[in-house]
Amino acid sequence: MSFNVAVDGPAGAGKSTIAKTVAKRLHLIYIDTGAMYRAMALYMLRNGISPDDAGEVVRNCENADIKIRYENGGQVVYLNGENVNSCLRTEDVGNATSVISAIPEVRQKMVEMQRSLASENDCIMDGRDIGTCVLPDAALKIYLTADSSVRAKRRYDELTARGVECDLKKILADIEERDYRDMHREVSPLTMAQDAVLVDTSDMTIDEVTERLVRMCMEKMG
Ligand code: C5P
Repeated sequence: MSFNVAVDGPAGAGKSTIAKTVAKRLHLIYIDTGAMYRAMALYMLRNGISPDDAGEVVRNCENADIKIRYENGGQVVYLNGENVNSCLRTEDVGNATSVISAIPEVRQKMVEMQRSLASENDCIMDGRDIGTCVLPDAALKIYLTADSSVRAKRRYDELTARGVECDLKKILADIEERDYRDMHREVSPLTMAQDAVLVDTSDMTIDEVTERLVRMCMEKMG
């Protein structure tokens, strides 16, 4: 049986940065489930389909062929044969993603893919519903969070460092709106699994959080 770690939490809590490093240290595959939902949202945006039109999104779901491969230690998302990794992390795609990810048919398709990847690989998987829905039997579940103002500032710094002009207030408003949608949707809302370990990263450095997670994983791995 494969060894699976679930990491859930709101946007900007540091899930992907930390899960990626933990994966490298422990020779696990890092599975970024947000990227899969983002690829689906990107398909809709590129084809002029409004994320708010659930019927149209569902009708077009089948036309978006999303494939995940692990190349040179990293996850690559292919959308109809094209490597779309560099198109996924914009704020527009992020916001559209949180709208389409509330649609049950979209989630069903993604969850199937995620379970199949986890059954074939020792992995650390991050998302919103990994511990509660996708991998209820994960060996370790972490709920990673931080104050929304801290998360907004982190995203602001990250975008600014990449040379993207942005507004801190707008980022905070987007994050709070996204949290609300993710936590209040009917299907698989973001919530902490009963058996998850809560890690609040508001006052922690990336290294501190990473060390803590590596230790927890190693304990579970024996
Ligand atoms: O983690 P990331 O910011 O890339 O996720 C983008 C959006 O995808 C989230 O705001 C959430 O709406 C959705 N998502 C989800 N379930 C997951 C992963 C992401 O609903 N397992």
